[in-house]
Amino acid sequence: MTQYEHSLIAMKRLLDAVHENHWAQWIATDIEQWRAAEDTSHHLSAYGGMGSFNDVIICRGNQHSVTEITEAWANTLFEWLKSVCYFLANHPNDSFTPETLANRVGRHDSSLAAFVGGDRAPASMRGYATEPVKLQGWRCLQCGQSEVTNRDIEYLMAQDLIPDMVFSACGSQSLDKLVDKVLASDVTGADETRKMLAAAAVASDILLITRDAWNWKCPHCDSDDTAVYRWVLRLDNECRFEPSTDNLPLRR
Ligand SMILES: [Zn+2]
Repeated sequence: MTQYEHSLIAMKRLLDAVHENHWAQWIATDIEQWRAAEDTSHHLSAYGGMGSFNDVIICRGNQHSVTEITEAWANTLFEWLKSVCYFLANHPNDSFTPETLANRVGRHDSSLAAFVGGDRAPASMRGYATEPVKLQGWRCLQCGQSEVTNRDIEYLMAQDLIPDMVFSACGSQSLDKLVDKVLASDVTGADETRKMLAAAAVASDILLITRDAWNWKCPHCDSDDTAVYRWVLRLDNECRFEPSTDNLPLRR
């Protein structure tokens, strides 16, 4: 089986499992057309226009079958699997090593390609992002109160771990098994990493909270001057989060 067909089968498995029925049916047609005529045009046509495959976000808010914990993993797996499917649709008879995939498959390739000239986007916007994965949460810009949810921690872990897992499983044609593992929260080392990140948040005065809605008013000082805020993990003497350089400044 080609890596292209294998990646489509894994994608269909993921979409079926989270009950994304429209796109599961679309991918089923892609598989049929590939088997019948080695035709990739139906799959490639998924990426353009309004309401395209690029606009799908797997989350509870979209009535997908995921939990608070698996949502971040399922959506991150979806994004990288989509990037691999898109890449392989452009090289459908070729076979690639995990290392080559890591160098050539970029998270944003499919959405860039949907724009005119997107294929010629600068290299810095393509390929496998080399900058560190960030923890994204909430901050009051008045008093500096910082909060992240369990979901934010799961996203950080998923974004750090999923790309290599996808490239490796694509190389060994075991993407279907990876889909099952990720949806079952069966990721090696995840529990230890989760505890380490929670401890790093505490050590960095970031409150780990359970909340679904956005905090418009700061629970500490009542200001409504709040923003999305990002941190990077520093692994020096002790594990800590430091503000990344792309945040709005604090007002004090
Ligand atoms: Zn505040």
